[in-house]
Amino acid sequence: MMRQTGGAHTGKPEAAEWSLNRESELRFEVDTPVSIKLLEGVAEVFGSEIPPNKTLTFDSGSKVAVFTWHGCKVQLEGEAQLAYVSTETPMITYLNIHAVLEKMREKAETSGDDGPRVLVVGSTDVGKTTLCRLLLNYAIRWNRRPVFVDIDCGQNSILVPGTIGALPIDKPASIEGGEFATSAPLVYQYGWISPDSNKQLYKVLITEIARVVSERAKTIAESRIGGCIINSCGWIDGFGFEALVHAAKAFRTNVILVLDQERLYNQLKMVFDPSRVDQDVQVVLLPKSGGVVARSKAARRQSRDQSVYRYFYGTSRELFFPHSFDVKFSEVQIYKIGSPSVPASCLPIDTKQDDHETKLVSVDPSPDLLHTLCGLSLANSLDEDLVRTNLAGFVCITDIDMDRQVFTALAPAPHPLPRRFLLLSSIRFMDLK
Ligand code: ATP
Ligand code: MN
Repeated sequence: MMRQTGGAHTGKPEAAEWSLNRESELRFEVDTPVSIKLLEGVAEVFGSEIPPNKTLTFDSGSKVAVFTWHGCKVQLEGEAQLAYVSTETPMITYLNIHAVLEKMREKAETSGDDGPRVLVVGSTDVGKTTLCRLLLNYAIRWNRRPVFVDIDCGQNSILVPGTIGALPIDKPASIEGGEFATSAPLVYQYGWISPDSNKQLYKVLITEIARVVSERAKTIAESRIGGCIINSCGWIDGFGFEALVHAAKAFRTNVILVLDQERLYNQLKMVFDPSRVDQDVQVVLLPKSGGVVARSKAARRQSRDQSVYRYFYGTSRELFFPHSFDVKFSEVQIYKIGSPSVPASCLPIDTKQDDHETKLVSVDPSPDLLHTLCGLSLANSLDEDLVRTNLAGFVCITDIDMDRQVFTALAPAPHPLPRRFLLLSSIRFMDLK
């Protein structure tokens, strides 16, 4: 592939034009903001089409691929790290998967059955989230209305870490940030970044999301036909595997896409062998893209912080202006889900060992809660099941005054809070603004 000079005559030494042949992609990593402009042809970023001649700017931390099916010319401006062109991409395989899902949707249109319910699995850094984004974007471009489910509690791409949830999709993901517009997300407080921190709660919430998604499919035909794409987290051993099987069953998954892991593929084939389960599941092994960039522990941490920051402050493309106000302790009731486990011998006779994991525990305000991200439950009263009730949004406790019996809340909307039940998370956010 040719790297042509373009900078000299524009007066911006970093601008460069790249000509891409068909079925190739320009990959780059961003440290300081980098802009692209599509000069000729048609190209996409993980399934979102790039509008021609428009300058798009990627923030630091982005890892991007500009892919073209038929060839294009693209201008890159700024100091992109490691920009290179690859002709080795699994995009044709991924497009074929989209075609299979599309066939299932066509069938669902006439049969009245549900469309594809796809679980994407694999270990960390294989491109699971990117594949979900691609398949959702393609579904949108084929005029479908799929539901995106994200059960990755560590790097949740719907809202903030520590939650899992679902989002009906009707627009492609933003090219620069990758996020789908979150007008009505269904989000639950799990509170941890790893599924094994509270196994029972993790499973209960997956079951609940699956129930709501399936109810939606019953009442909204385009959701039923569009089906759902489920993103999972990269922990695939022990309880990680058990949780994936639980999700596959709860969502009555009919397609499982395994990225790059023959062992996991065979494990899942065995569990979902037609002679063992009454669930028709196609398990498919897919190659990962050579472009996927591995993230260190520190990078994951940073990306979690960024995601909370984005919740409150938005992005450089869409700024939000959060509110900060005092909340009297008497205005709210604070709970956490799950009490410490007790030895079986100490449990009352008819309590199950697992029950403590989904028990609601009242928490008194104290300085320990400083910087805690709290989910504001949509529940109106304690008659509702707080564990299985989704959230209206989040507040972060940025200051706490025991003398005055108030805490300061950072919130997306002004005082007063629309509800009174707060569900704690182990996620802490330092508001440095
Ligand atoms: P995790 O285990 O953290 O959930 P994952 O398996 O979901 O990771 P992704 O988040 O999809 O992996 O990909 C990791 C990073 O690689 C992302 O920043 C993504 O933008 C980037 N990436 C994916 N595919 C490509 C590609 N073809 N070219 C360049 N970058 C890519
Ligand atoms: Mn992911």
